[in-house]
Amino acid sequence: CAAAAYVVSRRIRSRKHWNRTLGILQEFQSESATSLFRLRQVVDAMTVEMHAGLASEGGSKLKMLLSYVDNLPTGDEEGLYYALDLGGTNFRVLRVQLGGREGRVLRQEYEEVPIPSQLMVGSNEDLFDYIALELSRFVESEGDGYHPKSGQERELGFTFSFPVKQTSVDSGYLIKWTKGFAISDGVGKDVVQSLHDAMKRQGLDMRVAALVNDTVGTLAGARYWNEDVMVAVILGTGTNACYVERAEAITKYQGESPKSGSMVINMEWGNFWSSHLPKTTYDEDLDGESLNPGEQGFEKMISGMYLGDIVRRVLLRMAQESFLFGGEVPTNLYKPFVLRTPDISTMHQDETADLREVARILKSVLGIVNTPLKVRKIVVELCDLVAERGARLASAGIVGILKKIGRDGSTTGGRLKGDQGKGRRTMVAMDGGLYEHYPKFRKYLQETVANLLGEEMAANVTVELSKDGSGIGAALLAASHSQYLNA
Ligand code: BGC
Ligand code: MG
Repeated sequence: CAAAAYVVSRRIRSRKHWNRTLGILQEFQSESATSLFRLRQVVDAMTVEMHAGLASEGGSKLKMLLSYVDNLPTGDEEGLYYALDLGGTNFRVLRVQLGGREGRVLRQEYEEVPIPSQLMVGSNEDLFDYIALELSRFVESEGDGYHPKSGQERELGFTFSFPVKQTSVDSGYLIKWTKGFAISDGVGKDVVQSLHDAMKRQGLDMRVAALVNDTVGTLAGARYWNEDVMVAVILGTGTNACYVERAEAITKYQGESPKSGSMVINMEWGNFWSSHLPKTTYDEDLDGESLNPGEQGFEKMISGMYLGDIVRRVLLRMAQESFLFGGEVPTNLYKPFVLRTPDISTMHQDETADLREVARILKSVLGIVNTPLKVRKIVVELCDLVAERGARLASAGIVGILKKIGRDGSTTGGRLKGDQGKGRRTMVAMDGGLYEHYPKFRKYLQETVANLLGEEMAANVTVELSKDGSGIGAALLAASHSQYLNA
């Protein structure tokens, strides 16, 4: 009888715990909810902030940085160009022989090199020395089939995926680091100068002809093949967007009016903020414990660097308050960033009946064994909520841009010359591992963009993966900004 009473009390206790688990899940669900109504508020906030950021320096958390790119690739680019792409966990070096309108990309080679993690938080000189060394090795391996113009220095497009205040198309200083980078003596320095200095130390003779953000490189790379490209978005380790803006709309721009009448604006939307964003206590804690508290709020709800850690934080709370994984809290759950977005993606998309993949990752990453099916289901549900929120917020950002440039079917927003608004095709070029490797995230994003635009307008807008366009895009921009062009 005593034994039976014990069993009953355990059952009641565990039901109580289970209800608490569900309570934590539901609370997260309601706090992170993104109804269409709320997303429309985010769309509007995005356009409002875009206006403010274009009006004056410091006018908004959206920096709306000038790229000085006012002529996008046309297809006529010709010659040998190099590109260097720095910004995530790897950097890439690339060379391309461009053959003009008929030949297009005649030949292309690239190499990807991991960045040792200590260099991401070390000194500026060490980072650039490492890059210049790898670049010079790559240049040395240049074989037959590449034809530098005789008597001309090789030129380079430099994709640098951090916020840079540009002073021209080939110079600019670092405003701040983001993602996993924190090199304090790099902030405020001219990144092209840093690279040139390091190349000199390597004895490498090369000139940076264009300094571009990865979004701008992606836009250029995609535009080379398709004239409908007006916007580029990165959904990877970090997130950001750029788009083609009318020069007159860039009130803060004091320079000469570009011949094309437009300029690419690097929004740095990762730093976007609005009270309409569905922030939870987990987001607050993540921000507070991050390398850059108070910065990149939008990015921390959306991008690949953070999604896994949001899931981890909710699971930790469930483990602590409702013993989701038994009497003891698994110690790995305390480790920031142990659960990475690729893990979330795998668990979320586990199609097996007993959620074997979920069990495998819980075991290998968190050291949790023997999870009952209902616990695995909770984990999947949580991944779904976090990914869905991120994808839907990114969609609202995209529609905000389309609205700003009058490509969302509404009547407000400035239009580009010769632009009829409705009926005009618009392509959003997308790149980044989060979008590329996470089908459910991609699906949520595609659906939400369509929902926000409405059927008629959605038919005119496509979001397309433009894989690794940023490297070749930078090479193309180096070509169109070559110092030898008018020589
Ligand atoms: C950076 C942007 C970059 C984006 C995607 C963000 O953290 O601030 O400059 O475009 O990541 O790489
Ligand atoms: Mg990249």
